[in-house]
Amino acid sequence: MRLSRYFLPVLKENPAEAQIVSHRYMLRAGMIKQQQAGIYSWLPLGFRVLRRIEQIVHEEQVRAGHIPLLMPTLQPADLWRESGRYDDYGEEMLRITDRHKREMLYGPTNEEMITDIFRAHVESYKSLPLTLYHIQWKFRDEVRPRFGVMRGREFLMKDGYNFDIDYDSAIHAYNRHMVSYLKTYERMGLQAIPMRAASGPIGGDNTHEFLVLASTGESEVFYDSAITDLKFGDRVVDYDNRDECAAIVREWTTPYARTDETHDVSVFHTIPAERQKTSRGIEVGQIFYFGTKYSEPMGAVVVNDKGERVPVHMGSHGIGVSRLLGAIIEASHDDKGIIWPEGVTPFPVGIVNLKQGDGAADAACEAIEKALLAKGLEPLYDDRDDRAGAKFATMDLIGLPWRITVGPRGLAAGKVELTSRRTGESEEMSPEAAVARIAEIYAGV
Ligand code: ATP
Ligand code: MG
Repeated sequence: MRLSRYFLPVLKENPAEAQIVSHRYMLRAGMIKQQQAGIYSWLPLGFRVLRRIEQIVHEEQVRAGHIPLLMPTLQPADLWRESGRYDDYGEEMLRITDRHKREMLYGPTNEEMITDIFRAHVESYKSLPLTLYHIQWKFRDEVRPRFGVMRGREFLMKDGYNFDIDYDSAIHAYNRHMVSYLKTYERMGLQAIPMRAASGPIGGDNTHEFLVLASTGESEVFYDSAITDLKFGDRVVDYDNRDECAAIVREWTTPYARTDETHDVSVFHTIPAERQKTSRGIEVGQIFYFGTKYSEPMGAVVVNDKGERVPVHMGSHGIGVSRLLGAIIEASHDDKGIIWPEGVTPFPVGIVNLKQGDGAADAACEAIEKALLAKGLEPLYDDRDDRAGAKFATMDLIGLPWRITVGPRGLAAGKVELTSRRTGESEEMSPEAAVARIAEIYAGV
């Protein structure tokens, strides 16, 4: 992409309405535009990151054996009357009436609708286990939408639902979700710690929230610092293997980690004092097992291997896709701007031409761009006729993890400069070597 032809409405001034750094940088980097309180347009740069996050979520869900579908944003009120949640959900639910006076709502979550799909099509235990998920916009009429995409009213969520014949099988689904989430967040360059949580309006006894530690987080959390040493890394998991998944879950749930709702001081104080940590956290996901809470009232029943009709055991599992952009920036930035982890960056690398219009510099930039494209890596090439300082400031603000700087002086010696956004360190090398290095970095992403 050539910056001269792109749409990147960068702001020079700090927007007054932004209270936290991620919101400030998302506005300044031209990633989002607020349209109403808690409702945003995703401008091209923000949209690229959003798509990238969605893609990682999809890949890891499919790897875990979960099946994507797409349900609508608008749902009939009657479905929610069946579960009893139409009245319970309260003012957060946006209720709409159509021209025929039919009551509808903009879905805040999809337990009822997925249960409706299931009961219409599944009759036998032989069709189980089954986990269906989608990535779809949700609406919750939050009292205080704030912090940009972090607490929006309209927001993008991945929500998945498992259907299992019994408790043990449903707990395996729960474990599979925890394992796949650990891997998902790590691919985004995040450490999200599973913490024992309280259940809220979704219901259920077994639930963990995934929290990213950040001073601007809305939750208060308590944990054993040993948990922050755990890494998922390159493990290859057999998601059908119950023991293997359970062992990984045990690894992450043994060290103490709880939100303020489930915090137990007496247990916390059994951890060695130097490992007792209190912090703020951003909730980027939550998993629940809730048994037959929806299947029973809504008649999601299958015939088991003894010929009996039994309600299925269910759970639901959410990832805050749009909130993740804010969480990643909160966890990865400096005073110049965002620092995208390679896994989610909108462009893998930026090319800065120090002297636009100089024949050799222009040709070298174009050759680098072409070579990167041939490797499936689309660079953002700053081909504007602007000062080097201004170009660097833009690249630093939008946070591409790597920058290739090309100028006539370096080229005379056959060199360009490769700079890491994270460390600020630069290295001179040939254009070919820079391209090869970028390709090597992204080969493992
Ligand atoms: P919160 O406690 O932050 O209000 P929640 O527990 O009500 O969130 P869930 O029903 O667990 O939310 O939804 C799954 C995920 O969706 C959350 O973990 C969070 O990452 C994201 N999410 C929830 N509400 C919002 C919102 N208003 N804006 C952006 N993301 C949200
Ligand atoms: Mg939650």
